[in-house]
Amino acid sequence: MPLILIVEDEADLVRNLEYNLQKEGYQTRAALDGQSALAALSESPAPDLIILDRMLPDMKGAELCRHIRNDETTRDTPVLMLTARGEEIDRITGFEAGADDYVVKPFSVRELKLRIRAILRRSGSADEEVIAESVDFGPLRVDIPGHTVCLHDRAVELTALEFRLFKTLFVRRGRVQSREVLLRDVWNITANVKTRTVDTHIKRLREKLGDAGDYIETVRGLGYRFTSEPT
Ligand code: CA
Repeated sequence: MPLILIVEDEADLVRNLEYNLQKEGYQTRAALDGQSALAALSESPAPDLIILDRMLPDMKGAELCRHIRNDETTRDTPVLMLTARGEEIDRITGFEAGADDYVVKPFSVRELKLRIRAILRRSGSADEEVIAESVDFGPLRVDIPGHTVCLHDRAVELTALEFRLFKTLFVRRGRVQSREVLLRDVWNITANVKTRTVDTHIKRLREKLGDAGDYIETVRGLGYRFTSEPT
């Protein structure tokens, strides 16, 4: 079962998370501050996912997240950041530092478990899994190798660019993609380009997807996310 490292200084919350995640079958490890987290990260096996509190007594969560991204063994390990309500500026900082998703405190354990499941399903080789076969998702049938998306059994006419945008969001569903990341991965642009380009294309893609257009969620201040479960 996946190993989850919990980096959080509120001991009660750590106990609660460990209890609930273990009940779900996950293995857990806990660190109450940044230094213990760094020590835990050098132990093997490496965690499959890291839950990271934004404010630790000795280190900012974003700083630790940057460290995780710069270390070869943890570079691709998903990070789920815990933030306090209304700290949007810090959420953006954390996102730029490389967090994969956020949960705002106070959160329900159920919501956290859903996010964890979505992140783990999307991480590692999961992207390839989706690409290898056609997937039914609500009213959509997505055939990545065949470059087709069907809505209620009718093909959606997408341009090559729109398909790439759809595919990028879809295979990473449940994870927020910033406009900068989309420009890099869909448009191959890393220079300073107006991120409004992304918004324009998302709008058109949503229209073409009809009643499945709502699966592309706007995450205010961060970017876009394809919903993790069809409704
Ligand atoms: Ca804290």
